[in-house]
Amino acid sequence: MTTVFTHAVVPLALGLALGPQRVSGRLLAAGVLASVAPDFDVLGMHFFGLPYGHALGHRGASHSLLAAGLWAALAAWCWRALRGRSAAGVFGFVFVSMLSHPLLDMLTTGGMGVALWWPASDERLFAPWRFIHVSPMGVRQVWGGPLVPALLSELRWVWLPAFGLAGAVRIWSGLRPRALPHLPGHLEQAGHGGRTGGVGRLQRRHE
Ligand SMILES: [Zn+2]
Repeated sequence: MTTVFTHAVVPLALGLALGPQRVSGRLLAAGVLASVAPDFDVLGMHFFGLPYGHALGHRGASHSLLAAGLWAALAAWCWRALRGRSAAGVFGFVFVSMLSHPLLDMLTTGGMGVALWWPASDERLFAPWRFIHVSPMGVRQVWGGPLVPALLSELRWVWLPAFGLAGAVRIWSGLRPRALPHLPGHLEQAGHGGRTGGVGRLQRRHE
């Protein structure tokens, strides 16, 4: 596994890129929950003694494409409560958020692979390239030391690229000239084009 913070990076970066108009606070929270939910499978190991390699053990069924689809379908069913713009939009956001979890796990350097195709196949899969330091599972192990290299590795391979890309998308979409509907002709003319778009907005504000 990667750390719980890093799994949440994907929905947070997506939310940043898409903006609050498209991703409400509630939808963002649902995405964050979906991104960490697969690792609740450790509860089955802790309380029921399931072995790691069991279908319901760690990185098993909860890390499958099917689990992401079902969770996203449930969220889409509640799309109005999540203040989404459409059921399809909520499905897509939550599905990508949850599926990112096993995909990131597949890039880690330890543990067993991920049962991505469960129940069609129990095979545990890894990506051909594995460069994210695996995160320790137990609290004692966390404070024992290996958390620091895991976090540094995640910072380099996940946090920086994800938030860098999301920030660039956000800035780019903010700079893009927008159509100015229902404006008088002279203001529309001023509103066309990159820098003149700012002039158009300025003039509208002063009216
Ligand atoms: Zn996991």
